[in-house]
Amino acid sequence: MAKKKKEVDDRFKKFGTVSFTAITKVNDFITHLEEGRLMGTRCKDCGLHFFPPRADCYQCLTSNMEWFEVSGTGKLVTYSTLKYGPVGFEDDLPYTIALLDFGDYKVFGRISKDMSEEDIKVGLNMKAAVNHLPNGQLNYVFEKA
Ligand SMILES: [Zn+2]
Repeated sequence: MAKKKKEVDDRFKKFGTVSFTAITKVNDFITHLEEGRLMGTRCKDCGLHFFPPRADCYQCLTSNMEWFEVSGTGKLVTYSTLKYGPVGFEDDLPYTIALLDFGDYKVFGRISKDMSEEDIKVGLNMKAAVNHLPNGQLNYVFEKA
C-alpha cells in the first residue's frame, strides 16, 4: 500500500507583506480573505470576540469558536505613520498603522495608501477591506467609511 503524503495546511503563507507564520489553528482566516471577507472569531460560550482570530478562548479555556465578519464601521482610536520599517517592509514605507474600535472588538491594521495624511483624524469612521498586494500576498487595509 502506498504511503499517503501528509498534507501541511500552510495557507497563512499568503498573509501580509512578509508572512511570519504558515501554520496556525485559524488558517480558514486566509480562505475567508481570498473570498473577500475579513473574519475574527467569537467564543460560543462567553461571547468574547477575537481579532486577530484565536482558536481558543482564554476566559473559558475552551475551543468552542465561530467565525464572524469584521463589517460595518469602526472608529479610529489611534494611528502612527512609519518612516522606518522592520526588515522586509522597507518597500512599503511610509505606511500608517492604526487601531479601529468596532465596539465588541478592536482591529489593528494599516490605513490604505489611497488616503491622504490630512484626512486621517482620530474618531474618523473607517471600514476594513481585503487588499491584494502586488506580490500575490493578501492583507487588509482601512478605508474611510
Ligand atoms: Zn469564552
